[in-house]
Amino acid sequence: MSFESLGLSISLLKALSDQYFTLPTPVQKAAIPAIIDKKDVLGIAKTGSGKTAAYVLPLLMSLQAKPGIKNRHVNILVLVPTRELAEQVKEVFKKFSQGLPQPVKTLAVYGGVSINPQMMAMQGVNVLIATPGRLLELVEVNSVHLSTIQTLVLDEADKMLNLGFQEEVNKIIALLPEQRQNLLFSATLSADIQNIHQVLLHEPVIVQIEAEE
Ligand code: ADP
Ligand code: MG
Repeated sequence: MSFESLGLSISLLKALSDQYFTLPTPVQKAAIPAIIDKKDVLGIAKTGSGKTAAYVLPLLMSLQAKPGIKNRHVNILVLVPTRELAEQVKEVFKKFSQGLPQPVKTLAVYGGVSINPQMMAMQGVNVLIATPGRLLELVEVNSVHLSTIQTLVLDEADKMLNLGFQEEVNKIIALLPEQRQNLLFSATLSADIQNIHQVLLHEPVIVQIEAEE
């Protein structure tokens, strides 16, 4: 099965071949059509299995379908546990959004650095990638409004819970519109992930890729 058969646009297929992505990984094969279809998805697959592109590609498809996205507020919120992952995910959004008909503005925000440049950069952002604590700080100073979010992604959800972000994540979720798409990606399916998936996801498509021996 190729990327062509997953419902991605010509310009995304071009971006994929520019990045030498020739064949989708198992988690990408299963998750991409479901996310394009606006379903909630629980994606469990080991580290290195391509989970980032599994949500970045279909979310860029959804964004492109919106006329005048540059006038909109944040549509996509990706919560991540660490600054390193925030930067990595931002780079993946950037590399696949190059050359798309409508430009996509992506910003990563995280703690441990000054908040002011992040506040200044918020204007016109379509995709916000954030660690939970810094996002709540930005909400408090009125720099970001979460009422326009259409898709929430929790990436490395297992790590997020292990690091004790559950309460902050709950606070953020309470600020989001009720009608939204929820995507949860994790390397492991722990008891905590089982719990959060039951609260967060509505009739999810469950994509669980067993590690091959
Ligand atoms: P995970 O989040 O599951 O740990 P990543 O999304 O970080 O995995 O991807 C791991 C590596 O595999 C990255 O370097 C990424 O560029 C590469 N990769 C992902 N999907 C493909 C693909 N379909 N073809 C080639 N390389 C891929
Ligand atoms: Mg990952």
